[in-house]
Amino acid sequence: MAIISKKICLVGDFGVGKTSLIRRFVDRQFSDQYLSTVGVKISRKKVDLILPETQSQQSIQLLIWDLEGHTKFKGITPSYLQGASAAVVVGDVTRQDTLDHIREHIDLFLSINPKGWVVIALNKMDLVDSENLDGLVQKMSDSQTNQVLSVYKTSAKTGAYVDEMFELLSRQFISKS
Ligand code: GDP
Repeated sequence: MAIISKKICLVGDFGVGKTSLIRRFVDRQFSDQYLSTVGVKISRKKVDLILPETQSQQSIQLLIWDLEGHTKFKGITPSYLQGASAAVVVGDVTRQDTLDHIREHIDLFLSINPKGWVVIALNKMDLVDSENLDGLVQKMSDSQTNQVLSVYKTSAKTGAYVDEMFELLSRQFISKS
């Protein structure tokens, strides 16, 4: 049986940790050294899941797209987002402005992919006290449409919730395909 492939775009302001989250998930690595992406990079990762209903194994191929670091928010080209099944919308918990822009990033993604799914990553969790963010997570969860599947407190540095986030999307793709 042919393996299903799905496109996921990482979206969010400059420096929030989009490239780092992909590297953590795909390569199991984190670097403090600043290396911004040039152009568009597409990483491929096969995810194997056990389906709870049947206990059968199902695999899915994720094509994870990352956009060049210096692209201004308004300049994100629709062609980058086009054809994506989901977006991981990332904010940096140490920079309020990046959290304020999450809604706009989601709206833009859904305007191009009305049937797409979204997860929100509140990233760099290792730099703050996790409990201080529970209110924010709740507020974000309450104010979203049902296409926003979940809000995660992630850290590309420690790896917290990174696999869980991509696994949730993978399960969603399999259950809806
Ligand atoms: P992008 O522009 O959104 O792709 O952001 P990058 O992935 O290039 O990350 C920007 C900077 O934040 C880099 O110096 C990373 O090392 C750092 N960074 C990314 N994620 C984390 C994280 O979860 N924790 C910490 N402490 N630093 C992070």
